[in-house]
This record gives sequence, structure tokens and C-alpha cells, in this order.
Amino acid sequence: MQFDTIVRGGNVVTPTGTSKTDIGIVGEKIAAIGPDLNGSPGAKIIDASGHHVIPGVLDVHVHLELPFCGTTSSDDYRSGTRAGARGGVTTLIDFAIPYAGDSLNDAADNWMKKAEGKAMIDYTFHICITRWNEHKDQIKGMVDRGFTTFKEFMIYKSEGWQSDDKALFGTLEKMKEYGTMLLVHCESADVLDELISRYHTPELMKQHGATLHAITRPNFVEAEAIQRVIMWSEATGGQLYIVHMSTKEGADIVKAAQKRGVPVVAETCAQYLVLDDSKFEGEDGHLFACCPQIKKPDDIDRLWKGLKDGEVSVVSTDTCTFTREQKAMWEGDWTKIPMGMPGLETLMPVVYTHGVLKKRISLEDMVSKLCTTPAKVMGLYPRKGAIEVGADADLAIIHPTLSHCVDCATMETNADWSPYQGWNLAGFSRTTISRGDVIVDDYAVVGREGRGQWLPRTRAGLQSA
Ligand SMILES: [Zn+2]
Repeated sequence: MQFDTIVRGGNVVTPTGTSKTDIGIVGEKIAAIGPDLNGSPGAKIIDASGHHVIPGVLDVHVHLELPFCGTTSSDDYRSGTRAGARGGVTTLIDFAIPYAGDSLNDAADNWMKKAEGKAMIDYTFHICITRWNEHKDQIKGMVDRGFTTFKEFMIYKSEGWQSDDKALFGTLEKMKEYGTMLLVHCESADVLDELISRYHTPELMKQHGATLHAITRPNFVEAEAIQRVIMWSEATGGQLYIVHMSTKEGADIVKAAQKRGVPVVAETCAQYLVLDDSKFEGEDGHLFACCPQIKKPDDIDRLWKGLKDGEVSVVSTDTCTFTREQKAMWEGDWTKIPMGMPGLETLMPVVYTHGVLKKRISLEDMVSKLCTTPAKVMGLYPRKGAIEVGADADLAIIHPTLSHCVDCATMETNADWSPYQGWNLAGFSRTTISRGDVIVDDYAVVGREGRGQWLPRTRAGLQSA
């Protein structure tokens, strides 16, 4: 067989095992896997010896250029997908959120426009249902258009995004009917708002500063909401995906539900695995505000255990970048901090360094949580998340131990700070390949902006994978 590219001699990792082998690429696809592939004069040879070769990472929870918290998140499809590439991410899923009066189609059109001509890696969108009465009859049309994952928020009333129980229940019924999946941001809105109002005084804000972000979001705010929406999933049989789960209680509830056969999958994010709420103390504490907020060390331990044992299926980032200037809008009122942080570039390095190298999870587990399982759950497998013949030639090649010191000044994200500033992290991508194109070479982004493609889908959820 004549290959265009051969990835030579790498330690090829899939969820089921690891072996030293070659990968032959023809066009955009993996065409052969085996030792000592040859006979291709003119083929580009990529030396992967001494490195791990994994499927390109999927970050399935990303917000680029999102209008939020009175400003717009600063990483767009140009800087955001460059950052992803450097972290070995070859597919991202963003959230198309309808503006006031917009249909679901309008929301998808708007987000398509943000990505087109800028994205270096492939992408699609979760479609956010924000006004159930208006949007419920548009869901089937979006499935027909190639969108199979939807999102509802249990908070964000003032943004006009909140879903009540009727909307959650009704959407899950439709997910069951269409073989699609609902993603839910689980926080208990009324209790959260009550706690915020109790602390929203000049004296307490002066006294506690950014730590009020943690004080007003105790774990039960998330746990109650997870419990409630799991009940609606159980009642309807609709496939449910808990986004950015951050609490130990959440992990326990999900585990128990999965045991009784509820079709629920849980995601956590890199920041909930390595940062705790002591970060809110100190001058830069407000930078760490994200939603939900970072929790306690015992939550961190429980989430790692969940990844190892299986109740936590996916790690993503909830990337929603704000600069120091944007974060400064808070002026001492924690409810005004733009919530979110950069993440695409450091997702795999954080999970590799703090998960695999610290032996909390295996290398194969990492590939499952960052590549294969997200691809399956989001209806993209085996095109994405797989190293097998016929899959897209999306690969990340990483050195087993070589680390880089995180410095926001040298990163692709346009954030002028990093939650991991000064950390030494292994697992940055030496070489990233997207549909056969080398887009990162020797740790530097070399891909063409605008080459990324939208990924239509026909299904979602583990039941249909
Ligand atoms: Zn989010």
C-alpha cells in the first residue's frame, strides 16, 4: 500500500492496550496499523520512537467567543483551536446558545459563523434549549440537521437560559424518542440564589472577597440538582450527561444511578481534579472563579477515584477564557466575576501529569477518558477517538516524561494568566495530526487556520455507541 505518511515506531495506546507499532495514513484516514510498514517511496515519515501515540483528544465542553457575564470570552476559534492543537486536541464541541428571540437553528448558524475560516481542528456544537415552550418543537429539526446533543441549564435565570423540571423532563422524553442525549448543568438555582443574597452585603464582601464564590456554593447545591435530574432520566429513559461534575456527592449519586441502570454519564473538568478552593484566597483569587467553582481536596480525590472506577467517564475543560482585565470587572463583588478559565491547551498535560504519572489512572484510562469515551458518547466514534483502520488520522504524539513549564506568555491561548502558571507539566503534544495534516510539529503550531471541519452526527449516548 502507498502511504502518504507513516508514524513510525511509537507506543500506540488505546483503551484496551498498548503496543509498539507503525500507523500508515492515506489522505485523511488511518489506512494500516502494523509493525514495520514500508514500501512507500515518498511517504512522510514521522518518528514516534520513545513516544506515546494516542488518538487525538476530544474536548467536548468548550466555550469560545461566548457572550457571558457582561463580556465575551476572549479565546475565539483562532486562538482557541490553536491552543487545543498544542494540547493534542483534534476535536472540540462548543455550545450554541440562542440569543433572545433566536430559534435553535439561528443559534447553530451563529456558532457556525464563529468557527468557519478560523478553526484549525474539527468541531461541532451542543444545541442549548433555553426557552422550552418555544424550542421544544425545533429539536427534531436539529437532529435532522446533524446535531444529536442538547444542553439545558438548571441555573442562569437572569441570563434567560434556565430550564425548569417540565423542560428537563420533556427534553429527556424527546432524547429517548430520537436516540439523542441531554447535557445538563446541575446546580440548584433557588437555593444558590438564596445563599448569594444572604452574603451579598458590602461588609461580607469586604471581609471574604472572592472566597464568597465557594462559601455560597456548598456541595449540596450541585448534588441536589444532579439527584433531581437523574430522577427525570430514570423516569423517562432519556440519556443524560452531567457536565462539569465537581463534587464527591455527585460522584456517589451517579454511581448509584448507573448501578440501577439509569442511562447517565458524568463528566468532570481538569480544574476540578487539581485545584481546590484555597485558590480564592489571595490577590489573584478572583481569577479562579469558574462555574461551578473548584471544590475541596476530598472532592478531588473522589473524582480521581471515579475516573479509575468508572462512574466518571469523561474529562473536559469547560474552557471559557477571560483576561485579567475582564476578571477585574468584579471590583470586589464576587457575583460580577466573569466565570471561567482557559483549558484546551493544558487538558491532556494536567491529566497526564497528575493522573498517569502519579499513578491515579493508567495511560489506557487516560485515552478512554479524553479520547474514546467522549467520542462514543458524543456520537463521533469510530471516526474520532479511535486508532483503527478507517478512522480519521487524528493523533497526538507525547513524550513519556519530558515536561514544559506553563507560562501564559508563551501559550497559544490569549489569556494573560494561567491557572497552572509555573507548573511543570508533561504531556504536551510534540506532534498533533488532524485528518492526516501535521498541525503541531516539535511543540509548535504549524497548521492552517480555517482547515477545521464541522462534524455532523446521527446519534449520541452510550446506548447508541
Ligand atoms: Zn460550560
